[in-house]
Parts: sequence; structure tokens; C-alpha cells
Amino acid sequence: MNFNQKNSFVKRHIGPTESEQSQMLQSLGYSQLDALLADIIPDAIKNSNVLAATDGVSEEQALAELKALAQKNQIFSSHIGQGYYPTHTPAPILRNLLENPAWYTAYTPYQPEISQGRLEALFNFQTLISDLTALPISNASLLDEATACAEAMTFCKRLSKNKTAQQFFASKHCHPQTLAVLHTRAAPLGIEVVVGDEFELSNFDAFFGVLLQYPASTGAVHDYAALVEQAHSVGALVAVSADLLALTMLKAPGEWGADVAIGTAQRFGVPMGFGGPHAAYFATKDAYKRDMPGRVVGLSVDRLGKPALRLALQTREQHIRREKATSNICTAQVLLANIASMFAVYHGPKGLKQIAERVHAITAILAQGLKQLGVSVLNSSYFDTLTIQVTDAATLHQQARQQRINLREIDVQHVGISLDETTMPEQVVVLWALFAKDQSLPSFDKLSAEVSTQLPKNLLRNSAILTHAVFNRYHSETELMRYLRQLADKDLALDRSMIPLGSCTMKLNAASEMLPITWPEFSQLHPFAPIEQAQGYVAMIAQLKEMLCAATGYDAISLQPNAGSQGEYAGLLAIRDYHISRGEGQRNICLIPQSAHGTNPATASMAGMKVVVVACDDNGNVDVADLTAKAEQHSSHLAALMITYPSTHGVFEHAVVEICDLIHAHGGQVYIDGANMNAMVGLCAPGQFGGDVSHLNLHKTFCIPHGGGGPGVGPIGVKAHLKAFMPGHQQHLDRSVGAVSAAPFGSASILPITWMYIRMMGGKGLKQASSVAILNANYIAKRLSAAYPVLYSGDKGLVAHECILDVRGFKEQCGITVDDIAKRLIDFGFHAPTMSFPVAGTLMVEPTESESLYELERFIAAMLKIAEEIAQVTDQRLDANDNPLKNAPHIAEELAGEWTHPYTRQQAVYPLPSLLANKYWPAVGRVDNVYGDRNLVCACPSISAYEDE
Ligand SMILES: *Cc1c(COP(=O)(O)O)cnc(C)c1O
Repeated sequence: MNFNQKNSFVKRHIGPTESEQSQMLQSLGYSQLDALLADIIPDAIKNSNVLAATDGVSEEQALAELKALAQKNQIFSSHIGQGYYPTHTPAPILRNLLENPAWYTAYTPYQPEISQGRLEALFNFQTLISDLTALPISNASLLDEATACAEAMTFCKRLSKNKTAQQFFASKHCHPQTLAVLHTRAAPLGIEVVVGDEFELSNFDAFFGVLLQYPASTGAVHDYAALVEQAHSVGALVAVSADLLALTMLKAPGEWGADVAIGTAQRFGVPMGFGGPHAAYFATKDAYKRDMPGRVVGLSVDRLGKPALRLALQTREQHIRREKATSNICTAQVLLANIASMFAVYHGPKGLKQIAERVHAITAILAQGLKQLGVSVLNSSYFDTLTIQVTDAATLHQQARQQRINLREIDVQHVGISLDETTMPEQVVVLWALFAKDQSLPSFDKLSAEVSTQLPKNLLRNSAILTHAVFNRYHSETELMRYLRQLADKDLALDRSMIPLGSCTMKLNAASEMLPITWPEFSQLHPFAPIEQAQGYVAMIAQLKEMLCAATGYDAISLQPNAGSQGEYAGLLAIRDYHISRGEGQRNICLIPQSAHGTNPATASMAGMKVVVVACDDNGNVDVADLTAKAEQHSSHLAALMITYPSTHGVFEHAVVEICDLIHAHGGQVYIDGANMNAMVGLCAPGQFGGDVSHLNLHKTFCIPHGGGGPGVGPIGVKAHLKAFMPGHQQHLDRSVGAVSAAPFGSASILPITWMYIRMMGGKGLKQASSVAILNANYIAKRLSAAYPVLYSGDKGLVAHECILDVRGFKEQCGITVDDIAKRLIDFGFHAPTMSFPVAGTLMVEPTESESLYELERFIAAMLKIAEEIAQVTDQRLDANDNPLKNAPHIAEELAGEWTHPYTRQQAVYPLPSLLANKYWPAVGRVDNVYGDRNLVCACPSISAYEDE
């Protein structure tokens, strides 16, 4: 007997057993997996051997190793502030939402009928934001505060009436990380960011927009009403980054005229996590709603006239508008927005106000005590943050650290202290002691009886907050628990069935991978804590970078971008800066194949590049002749080619090496979109076959859950020559310019998920995962090919890790559309495959390696049954309009009413007998998209609106 722990994780992660794999291979005409792969992956790129054939370790061992690293992090009391605060995540939200696969394994709610639960939670988030900011339209989250401010900047540029202005004014009292990201984002667009004191500004003529921080980074609370009027008088727009907790007590930006409010929802129950992930928010006036970045949940109706939620205004997004899109944001921060929204649901208006009042009062007590001790507190007004003048900041910080306290380092003579929901009286006394020298300490109790509000009287909020029913009901734990369960039950996530979404790679998010993210050693660190305290992170990050270099063949990795779109941006900026560094700043053309994901062209234009579209040939490959012609035509101005590999058509293109060589010969750089890395890890490496830079989606290939539409991590890998042009950060990174995220390591607290995955799989397991992902896709393609033509395949008739089913013919044949099939799948308990990307009217299926043969067969059975139903519509055994496909999905209520359809109830909801044992009931019928966009409603109606009815 072998008493060493055996690694069984690879078998837990990969769905089909070895014998099932053999069976599937046989049906494809192969006896060995290697032989199948040999016929799919071009020789020219194969066997790169960058990933060592190592074994993984057991779940227990990986957890123990990671725990040892985590314990190198030191958790000090954080009073750094700067947009990041300690917070109590309510236990029922932690357990029933953050740690619940029903919430974290869900996909972005593009299929509204199976997403009503998370859509409702997001709708609550929008309501919360809209209410606290007093601006009627809010989106469903952005990536972080700094990038939200950058989105606000370009938003102001689009909408300002001061059309010729090229300057954006940013208050010097914005958080430094925000100013850094603004500078990065402004440069390629020819925008000049002017940083200054807003109260010294005499006129706004030169500016299209203004950014303020409320309360200011220093803690001060200013009245901006007059300033807003001045800015408006020249047609400039005013954006304000506002603290949500402070807004429960302060007059809202919308009440003093701001056009846009942005900020972070972190302190609403989301741990700091060394920088993220957290939800940022964006709210604006009704007139500007069509220009808002990010996703918006809107209210519409379903087929039966029942209210139903859905993602609204998608026509302004990248997949439609390409390089003219309002933003490149795709994956956002849904899970974190939902935590923040539930924090507000649980505490309610009174509870939130109490938290805010307590934070403010304890800050006032601290300030009063400091003044008694003769300390120079500079702000006359504040909510939770004090700026203090000292003679020797360095010594003070040193003494503070001896007490395991971090203060904000402003400069040699100034320190900042921020308090929060978790601050206890004892901590205030310890803070006093730091400044007391030999004086006796003030009495907390005495001061607490004396202090009054330090907010300017004219800025106190008079309007009610959160009057909507949802914020006034679920205040007991029992009620909240049931509400979360009720919402989760409406949704279809990976905990119910496979989600075969091409390009999105919905694979297992293993429990062992998820455990570490809520360890306090990872979750409680402030992103700007001194690096000595983050040695666990430093070590984990270094190892992860090494792992990802080995998986991709690149020389260096930046983990800062917090979604794929942001990785694309960081990658294209690296290319841009590289060209500039060589005196070739004129290179601004970005070639992008027709079939590219919408984020690619949207990102290229953010990076100041001009998009030139390259055609695809009949087989779905890049049209090499067209590419050659365009590369030649633009040779001296060619900046980059952006391609996805394997292609978005799900094929390993043979010409990829030739294509990369061609671009290099013209002086361009090759950006390989790594969203399809799940077909390549261990089999071939983009850094080896011609890529100069790629992003990875750790939330696709590397097991971070999609969270219902975020969080994500979009690191970039680069070849050595681009290393110097990767994102920098003023904190913890050797380069201070070029930050693309607020925090130096982006969404650091979810990196342990990927670390665990790679450590448990080892090089061998990862290679096997890619191989089985390809096997699963080919098995499905083969089994479905008689019923649904597979649109593209390689020269041996095989696909990569996904396949496009061409259902366009049915429309002419019998009127059945891709939508009908997608919605009918819901009646079978499945999430639809990716719809209409990359080819309109088709379905793209990606099973991933995590799905067992049993589950693949269930999906195949559903698809074949649907094909049968289509055939029945074609030969008129089913009515052309009143049939199970057109009416899908069917909801329970409909069965209870009068049944008028020419097919049976049984046919409607139990089309396969196996469904009798396991049936998913959607909460609403097919949602009307057009109605929702025409009658846009983005927040819960207030109770008074109900009363009016
Ligand atoms: C998912 C995806 C992206 C965008 O990634 P996000 O993380 O959603 O920003 C880009 N390209 C392709 C091909 C994708 O599938």
C-alpha cells in the first residue's frame, strides 16, 4: 500500500473517464487521443514543450502549500483609506452568495429567462446606486474606481457641448491611483489631463469635463454646486467619484448638479483583497443613458406580459458597434455588485445610515482627541478621513507599524487616517497613543458625549434613501437567507447543468480552488499596505507568473488587467509604446479579422489605433491574400494584428505562423487574443508560434468563476522586447507610469484560484485538460453533425475545442430561428450555447473538459430532440407559429391556465422522459427585447410609485 497522498484532482476536474475517452475516440475513428490531436493541431506549432510534464499535487497538499504562503501576509489595522476600507461581510452573504456556486458559477445574464435571480440582484444594485447618487440611470457595475473615472472622462468627451476642448480637468484631490489611470487612458486619445485645485480655477473654457472626488482624497467635504454651474456654462460635464457610505449622510451628486457619479462599492461588504475584485459603479442623467459604458439591467415584459428583467441597450456595446462602441468592457464585476447590493438589502436604509453615522462619529472623536493632543488636523470638514500634518512622517509610520497599524503615507509631513465600519474605540485610543508622546490620553467616552457632526450643514442629506420595498424587508437573517435562495433558484448556473458557451469556457470552478479566496490572509490586505506585509502575495504572484509563462511561452506576465478587455488594452498599449520607443510612433493601424470578438476593435480604438478589417475565407480562416494586401498597403503604419487562436471559428488555422511572420516583416506586432487558450495549454504556446503579446482570461481557461458576469482577471503575457512596456503602478511596481487598474495586481484576491488549479493539475494534467476539451468538442460535433451542419472545421474535418452549429437554414425551411432553439433548450434545462458569435444566426458549442460523457449525452439528446421538433414544423406536423420552439421557454404558470396550444403540456415541458426526474422551471417566458429598450426602466420603482398605481 502506498501511503503517500495520491493526486486525484485531475480525475475530479476532467469529466470523461479514461474508458469513456476511449469510447468517444472510437466513435471519431481514433484509438489514441494523441492521434486525434495530431490531426487537429498544425505540425508547425505543436510540441512546444514549454510546459514541463510535471505531476500536480493533491487538493489537500495544494491547500497546505498555499496556506503556508498566505501566512507570510501580515494583516495590520488598515487606516490607509484611499478608496479601500475594511468591512464586515455579513456571514449570510458570505455563505449564501459569495461561497455559493449557484451565484458564482453563473454566466453573464445574456439569456434573461434563466437569469432572473441575478438580474434582480443587479437591478437592486442599480437602484441602490441611483438612489444614493440621485442620478436616475445606473449601470450594473464597472471594473474598479479608477477605470470607472477613466470611462467617465471619455463619456464626458463624447457628450460635452464644449466640442473643441481637448482638456479634462481632474481635481488634485482625486485618489492618486485614479489620476494615474486617467493619464494612461488619456494619452492615446490625445486628451490632456490637467490636474489642479478646482477652487483655484477661474474658468472652464478649455475643458470638456471635470472630475471631482467627494469627499476629497484628503477627507475634506466641499460644496461644488457653484463650480458645477460654472462648468455647465461652457458646456463641460462634471463627473464625481463619490463614496457610497458617505452619501447616506451627504447631499447626493445628482442633487448638486453633477452629470456623472462613479466610485467603488467595495466598502459595502466586499473585502479589500489586496486590491480587488470589487464593483465600481457608474450613474448618470437620463439624457445620457445611451452613451453609458458597461451593462445595464432593464425591466421589460415576457411573452405572457409578465414583468421580466434583461440586459438593456446592448446595441451600444462592442459586439454591435465594434470600434465605435461606448466602451470595451465585457466582463464586469457582477458577483461583487451583488454582494454590495445584498449588503444594502440586509442593512436597509436605517442600518446603512447607522453604519455611516457611527463611522463619522468615531472619526470625529479621533479628530477631537488628536486636537487635544496638539496634533494638527488639517481638514475642517470630513466624513471618515483626516489629513494630519506632522514633523516626521517616517518615524510615525514606523511607530504605527510596531503597533500593527498602517496609516496613509502622503508625504514627509502629512499622513492620512481613515476609519471604517470595523473601527472599535480601543483602536482610536491606540491611534491617539501614537501621537501622545508623554501626554495623557483623552477619554473616548467623554469625547463621544461631546462631538457633533463635522459635515458642512448645507451638504447634509435631507432626501430619504432606499425607500424601495426590497431594501425594507430582508433584515432578519432568515428573510435574507430565503431571499438569496429564492433568487438563486430562478437561475441556471453550472451547479445545475453544463453551460456550453463557445469562447467563454464555462468549466469547473473547483471548491478547493475557491476556498483560499476568503482566507483572511488574502482577503484582508489593503492594496497599498507596505510590501513587506504582503510577502505571501508576492510569493504567490511570482509563482503564478512563472506558471503562466510556462503555459503560454511568453517571457513576462502582468496580472494587473482585471478583465480580458483590459488585458487587450494593456497589450495594445505595450505595442504602441514599443513603436514609440523605436521612433515609429506613426504606426497606428491595427488589422483585425472580421470574425474578431467585439472587444478587439473597441480596444484598438481606445489605444488610439485605426482598425482595418481583414476578411475571412469560406473556411472561416483569415484570408491570407487580403491580409497580405492590407499589410503591404499599410506597411509603414502597421502597428499590430489582433487575432484569436484557435480562431473564433473554433479551428486551428494552419497559416498562423506564416501570418505572424508576415506582420513582423512589415514591422508590426502580433496580438493573440488568448480567450481560446483552453484549447492550447500544454499543446502549443502563442509565445512560441509568433505572438508578441496575449491576454489570458483567467475566468475562462484558468478556473476563476464567471460570477454571473465578473469578476475576471485578464493578465497579459509578453515577449521580452515588450516587457518594459507592461502596466506600471506607483505602488509596488518598478514602473510608475502606465497603470491600467487602480490596484497594482488588479484583482489579486482571486489569483489563488488559478494558482490552485495549476498546482493541482501539474503540466501533465493541464495538457490532458486541453486534450479532453478538444475531444469533447469533436465528439459533440460528430454526434450532432447529421442534425446540425458544423460550419467550420479543419482539413481533416475536425474542430478545436468548440464548434459552430449552423442553424441558419431552418429559418428559410420552416421559420425556426437561432433564438427559438436557444430558448427551447431552456425547457430541457440547458443554457444556450453562444448565440450569433462569431457568425450571426449560429450556435457555438464549447463543452470544456469538465463535462462528463453523461452530461454530453444529455445535451446531445436535447439537441437531437429539438432537431426532431424542427423537422415536425417543417413537415407541418407542428404548427408553424404555435409550436414548442416558438413558445419556448414554457413556464409553470402557463400550464395551470387554460391550455390553448395545438401540442400537449407534456410536449411543452417534458419533451424527454428524463426531465421528469430533474426539471428546471424558468421564472419567466421569452423576454421582449424591443419593448424593454423602448421603455427603459433601470431601477426599482419606489414605494410611492406602487402607491400611485
Ligand atoms: C471573453 C472574450 C474576450 C473579452 O474578455 P472579458 O474578460 O470578458 O473582458 C475577448 N475576446 C474573446 C475571443 C473572448 O471570448
